[in-house]
Amino acid sequence: MPSSLASHVVLFPFMAQGHTLPLLDLSKALSLQQIKVSIVTTPSNAKSIAENIANYPNINLVEISFPIVDGLPKGCENTSQLPSMEFYGPFLHATKQLQRPFEQALKTMIKSKTPPLCVISDFFLGWTLASCQALGVPRLVFHGMGVLSMAIGKSAWVHAPQQKSMSMFEPIDLPDMKLPFTLTRADLPGELIDSPNQDDPESQFLREAMEAEAKSWGVIVNSFQELEKSHIPSFESFYKNEAKAWCLGPLFLHDRMKGLEKCTNQKDSSMLTPWLNKQVAPDSVMYVSFGTQADVSDAQLDEVASGLEESGTPFIWVVRSKTWSLPSGMEEKLKGRGLIVKEWVDQRQILSHRAIGGFLSHCGWNSVLESVSAGVPILAWPMLGDQFLNARFITDGLGAALSVKRIRNTDSNEVLVSREAICEGVKELMGGQKGKSARERAEALGRVAGRAVQRGGSSHDTLNKLIDQLRAR
Ligand code: UDP
Repeated sequence: MPSSLASHVVLFPFMAQGHTLPLLDLSKALSLQQIKVSIVTTPSNAKSIAENIANYPNINLVEISFPIVDGLPKGCENTSQLPSMEFYGPFLHATKQLQRPFEQALKTMIKSKTPPLCVISDFFLGWTLASCQALGVPRLVFHGMGVLSMAIGKSAWVHAPQQKSMSMFEPIDLPDMKLPFTLTRADLPGELIDSPNQDDPESQFLREAMEAEAKSWGVIVNSFQELEKSHIPSFESFYKNEAKAWCLGPLFLHDRMKGLEKCTNQKDSSMLTPWLNKQVAPDSVMYVSFGTQADVSDAQLDEVASGLEESGTPFIWVVRSKTWSLPSGMEEKLKGRGLIVKEWVDQRQILSHRAIGGFLSHCGWNSVLESVSAGVPILAWPMLGDQFLNARFITDGLGAALSVKRIRNTDSNEVLVSREAICEGVKELMGGQKGKSARERAEALGRVAGRAVQRGGSSHDTLNKLIDQLRAR
């Protein structure tokens, strides 16, 4: 560790890939500013984090043990290790038992030569606020969501339960927000409508995390001012104290723009780049991925396969399901036109390849930011949580995406996508007029994102201001 590092920041990511990856990007952005970074995590997560930060001597890992908890399968230290989403609630609660070891670790860091300027911990780790307050270190919150989604979330938490009698598709009224599109209950995550009034452990957990957030020193946002300027005041107005939204994103670009990022956290599928290099026409390949959390049924995966086949568009498709395989006869039809990958890929690298012209995405916030930063328009198929809001924002708010047509099955209440809808959406995005204008918007936003993280750019300067303010405390 170089001895010139005068300042020290502690990061504590929530144990889910979509939450951890952007905080690792933040650790690299801080490291570029000559800040020492300690990342607090548990043993099984430490391995992949260590690989990710291997080239960064200013970043070190602080391991604390994950508790053995009744009702949670042994060895689950990350949401991707959970057998199903039913375990999500118990997993959230289990993280509370990390409080003691976290405090021990923080005490040791406080006694070191470079005591931490602050702790940046995930929204879900709201209990870290009490530890930080007890030990006199400011806590900043990290959400991994966009400003608009967070502001809508806070407003809906107050106003949506009162409008519960309305149908799913009637516009919802959020009096404290100016929205760039009409919002309906169907766009909101279920917990925002139900949790404020419920006593179940998960709702209680969320309420506590929200209360802790409101009392924290500030919020780190993985977005950039130019993208979300108009919603920042509404978002900040929800805080009782001086807490501020520090827009530092796209976090992964800080390092990319310096050309320093040599390794990613997991192994990439080596055949992808040679395959993409063979696709001579720029913007000709569709990238398909639904992130690390969404469970897509085998029947829906069949529809995706048929839709891609009928569209005639080349594609790279990352499939999470280990059991699903192509319907019979389909392999032959798709031969040479598409790649189906069942392992971790370097999504950012794929999106930045000149051959990629569209992204069929679940609209997780990281995927939205990565697509926009690469100037790639999205075909939006949101599935859960804030993805519905992200999809509305990128489609109707920013004009950089089209929506895939979704239909609610009145018997099962499931929202389904047909092969025809996939085929139609892919064709329009890749070759239609609406797709052309979405691509132009995405490319323009990509240029702005790149400028935001360079010297003099909004996110670069905000990062420096944040460090200065923390040093001046
Ligand atoms: N990701 C990746 N390779 C994969 C699958 C996912 O690099 O094979 C990354 C992706 O680039 C993004 C993150 O995992 O940074 C997923 O986050 P997102 O918010 O898009 O969705 P979530 O997984 O949280 O639903």
